[in-house]
Amino acid sequence: MLDLLVKNATLSDGRTEMSIGVVGDRIVDLDQALDAPAITVIDAAGQLVSPPFVDAHFHMDATLSLGLPRINESGTLLEGIALWGELKPELTQQAVVDRALAYCDWAVAKGLLAIRSHVDICDERLLAVEALLEVKRRVKPYLDLQLVAFPQDGVLRWKDSKGRASAFDLLKRSLDLGVDVVGGIPHFERTMAEGAKSVELLCELAAHRGLRVDMHCDETDDPMSRHIETLAFETQRLGMQGRVNGSHLTSMHSMDNYYVSKLIPLMRESGVSAVANPLINITIQGRHDSYPKRRGMTRVPELLAAGVPVAFGHDCVMDPWYSLGSGDMLEVAHMGLHVAQMTGQKAMRECFKAVTETPASILGLDGYGIAKGCFADFVVLQARDPIEAIRTRATRLKVVRRGVVIAECSPNVSALHLTSRPASVNFLKP
Ligand SMILES: [Zn+2]
Repeated sequence: MLDLLVKNATLSDGRTEMSIGVVGDRIVDLDQALDAPAITVIDAAGQLVSPPFVDAHFHMDATLSLGLPRINESGTLLEGIALWGELKPELTQQAVVDRALAYCDWAVAKGLLAIRSHVDICDERLLAVEALLEVKRRVKPYLDLQLVAFPQDGVLRWKDSKGRASAFDLLKRSLDLGVDVVGGIPHFERTMAEGAKSVELLCELAAHRGLRVDMHCDETDDPMSRHIETLAFETQRLGMQGRVNGSHLTSMHSMDNYYVSKLIPLMRESGVSAVANPLINITIQGRHDSYPKRRGMTRVPELLAAGVPVAFGHDCVMDPWYSLGSGDMLEVAHMGLHVAQMTGQKAMRECFKAVTETPASILGLDGYGIAKGCFADFVVLQARDPIEAIRTRATRLKVVRRGVVIAECSPNVSALHLTSRPASVNFLKP
């Protein structure tokens, strides 16, 4: 007897009329038109059943703080960082926990069940670290939260006001407390040389502790910002292939093509992955340009073509850097597709992978996917394939975690009151 049977599902790889059998928290059977007794049956009615969305790049310590203490008027990265610096001394642990939990509620409703969040460690109280570790414990039954120790003001650049602790000490202390991944921000250090030194220092720390690395890297329009080269080189030197990610990499948009033709193969050989953050990159980059204005997103199709895994992250929702967003990774994929001009059929499917499978592998999630033996985690979408899901930012009809429905939503249908026209529309291809 199955605990749950999902019938008539279309999978993102194109298989149709599939049945998913669940016992406990695992998928035990996956076959066409499987008919076994089950306590609960969900008829997917030919719609897409996808593994959950995964966000490989987020800032949960700042989310939903929009307007505190004021709005970012210029909309620039640097005003955002300054604003966050104004807010930090006023943060309370309870307020950070409450906002993060509220965001996780949104995430669950959107079928987003795994998030890698950076947490700012440039604070001698480590208040945000304590808060997000608490959130991680509390959401564990329904959402995998992976935390990155992120020195927002530069691991070498930042000094605490009383001179008691260095950012590097605080970063190590936050790892001791249970933060999972080593972060960095080399382009924000004082010089290129200091940036390179920070990459080396942080990669050595991660190698020593057997941890993953995820750095904010080259989030600038400066084509000479080349810390990704150092990050890839260090990854190879320290034997950390498959465990290191470069986030943003926006300077690659502006780099010389010859240089990039050498850089991308180095990234490939080093097993470094990339995360672009399309909503943020398109609003924050190119701010010093007049016209034409650069898009500033990294070279997604070229990286993919070379075999470098690329995910799309949400980065920000209603915080000092970005006033919009709702935890909808299909909105992120939609923007990424447009900014990268990935409009071919295969390319659009790649954009769906960039918010599901690819970030799952970057996070190193266990038991992820629609396959026998995987966790029974999935989303029933009001769409027939990944492209339609992106086009309509499909409604999450059911969100299942470990075999249990944890969120659901009515289909998106508009009633029409017109003569000689249908009574309703649902925006799907007829
Ligand atoms: Zn970020």
